[in-house]
Amino acid sequence: MDLSAIAAALLDWFGQSARALPWRKSYDPYQVWLSEIMLQQTQMDRAVGYFERFLGRFPDVSALAAADEEEVLKLWEGLGYYSRARNLLACARELDSHHGGRLPDDPAALAKLPGIGPYTAGAIAAIAYGRDVPAVDANVERVFARLFDLDLPPKEPKTHAFIVKTAQDLIPPGRARELNQALMELGALVCLPKRPRCSECPVSAFCEAFRLDLVFERPVPAKAVDYIPMDVASGLLLREGMIYIQKRPAQGVWAGLWEFPGGTVESGETPAEAVVREFREETGLDVAVTSKLAVVRHGYTRYRVALHCYALTSLSGAAEPALHAAQEGRWVDLAGLDAFAFPAGHKKLIDRLGRDIRLDTLWG
Ligand code: SF4
Repeated sequence: MDLSAIAAALLDWFGQSARALPWRKSYDPYQVWLSEIMLQQTQMDRAVGYFERFLGRFPDVSALAAADEEEVLKLWEGLGYYSRARNLLACARELDSHHGGRLPDDPAALAKLPGIGPYTAGAIAAIAYGRDVPAVDANVERVFARLFDLDLPPKEPKTHAFIVKTAQDLIPPGRARELNQALMELGALVCLPKRPRCSECPVSAFCEAFRLDLVFERPVPAKAVDYIPMDVASGLLLREGMIYIQKRPAQGVWAGLWEFPGGTVESGETPAEAVVREFREETGLDVAVTSKLAVVRHGYTRYRVALHCYALTSLSGAAEPALHAAQEGRWVDLAGLDAFAFPAGHKKLIDRLGRDIRLDTLWG
């Protein structure tokens, strides 16, 4: 296949079709890094707003390195996968202490930093610094699987190695910034997973899957992920217009985020029994369910979670909740919940409180 002709067609198309994205104004390494981390598992349209807010608050590595983790998590709220935000902060602190506040331009050095894998290392080196290295993400894998009619899943080691090598060979000297972005942009706008726009594609003349009418069979899917259903119960302990929230431990799942106490529903237990048991274990308080508020459904890695949410009243008089499973606890009013960062399921519940879930009649 004529790689130089493919590269020329891609570069020509990108020159005319590139979207005006905020980090493309200067290709500042900090901004490129931030955008790449945000775009992992997040759609472009949503990421742009978060990017601008984040950059407005933390304009460079030093500002981010000096940030309070809680503020970073709050700005990240809604993007999910909070380990990205924690790694971003850890990485900024490492850059500030050991790299003069600057991201390295070498992919191998970048890949040693927290939260930066081979794809992100390649993207920063190529897009921010113009190094002639590839950046292969899921979009690029899909484009290559079709362009070269690859008949094994793109993540299969030999197939992936072929894609990375070909992506490297495709780069005309000095054009990695544009070429990598052209491939990503093609995957995001034209070579779409379900409805590829082959009639608008700048490389359709070279595309083997298109020629062989195999576009919808490529890429070959990897083995399907088995999702695991999970029931979780969570309780809003209400007292005189206030709701009890607690801050999760500094390590482990959803570290440092705030939550309504609760946990997994165990075998043989109803969700209402689970929330009472969890509350006793986590806070030392005996509680009673006064109302079932909602069942909020959300995905978390391989889990499909049904979050059963209850309003609770204390049976332990004026006793304060203990911190058996948390680093801090607070009583806040409904409006005050907005100041804290919560995991996705709890955030969905908060968004509904006061809208279609009324607490007015339930305050103890
Ligand atoms: Fe993708 Fe279609 Fe272009 Fe081939 S011709 S690269 S399948 S959009």
